[in-house]
Amino acid sequence: LIPILLHFIFSAATPYTTLPSVLLIGPSGAGKTALLTLFERGPRHHNNDNNPNPAILSPVADTHTSQTPSTVELAVSTDSPHTTTYRTDLDATGATAKKFLLIDTPGHPKLRRHALAHLSSPSATITPSLTTRTTPSHTGTEPNSTSKSKLKALIFLVDAAALADTDSAALSSAAEYLYDVLLALQRRQQRRGGGSSRAPASVPVLVAANKLDLFTALPAALVRSQLEAELGRIRRARSKGLLDSGEADGEVVGAEEGEGWLGAVGGDKFSFKEMMEFDVEVEVLGGNVVGDGPGADKWWKWIGERI
Ligand code: GDP
Repeated sequence: LIPILLHFIFSAATPYTTLPSVLLIGPSGAGKTALLTLFERGPRHHNNDNNPNPAILSPVADTHTSQTPSTVELAVSTDSPHTTTYRTDLDATGATAKKFLLIDTPGHPKLRRHALAHLSSPSATITPSLTTRTTPSHTGTEPNSTSKSKLKALIFLVDAAALADTDSAALSSAAEYLYDVLLALQRRQQRRGGGSSRAPASVPVLVAANKLDLFTALPAALVRSQLEAELGRIRRARSKGLLDSGEADGEVVGAEEGEGWLGAVGGDKFSFKEMMEFDVEVEVLGGNVVGDGPGADKWWKWIGERI
């Protein structure tokens, strides 16, 4: 199954550019499959009074442990107020819609490297080949298996309830993964120059704090500060690692060049705002896929504004 992961084939040329894509990434168990299914099929319980007759009412499918990425084609309305909900039947309302692909990636640590390697590529195209789910998307079409898609945004989904559990390694492992994702995006900007000085298109990141229906979950503001603190710790630890393996005189090899160092050089505490230096916008928004809570509308709106 692992070779199937090599779907993320980025390329400098984009002759077959098709629908833009949004990559869904994050630790396993965060709810990526559940979120993909929610957007694809609509909510298990709809509680939106403004939309008493949603087109999609089928239940959220039971999620399975996925080893392969899967892709669904979705459409977001460009006409307000429809942008705020994924429940609207865009065909019925006659709204103008922008289609995009949502690509779910496996969270297993061994399989992350492939996705990450391509994120740092200056071109932001992705080939979502063979990643289609067995269940057809509600738009009725599936992505072309050979077409290249422009990566528009990245959603890093975390389990906000797991992050609250200080006995678990959830915070440190989520932050390790996020560090690598942000570093890959930072490198895209750092690698420009040379022959082509055109800046690569920026890829904004949504840190989606999931499972806010659980009372044990950290609110989004705390997810943000905890992740920032942990990313700062990882940054310091990694720069020490660079120091140890560096020159005998203790020169910080690599870190001074920005290699391996996330965010603004020399900073003590890490803040997501530092990523703007590399044209990487990071926003943290809370929500939930199942249960009662803020739902997923804010995330949907975020996507709509960036497609
Ligand atoms: P993935 O590994 O990231 O694809 O995670 P899954 O989509 O398989 O979800 C892992 C588990 O979390 C499943 O049992 C989901 O039902 C559950 N889950 C997903 N989203 C939520 C949520 O918003 N709230 C709660 N309480 N559970 C959720």
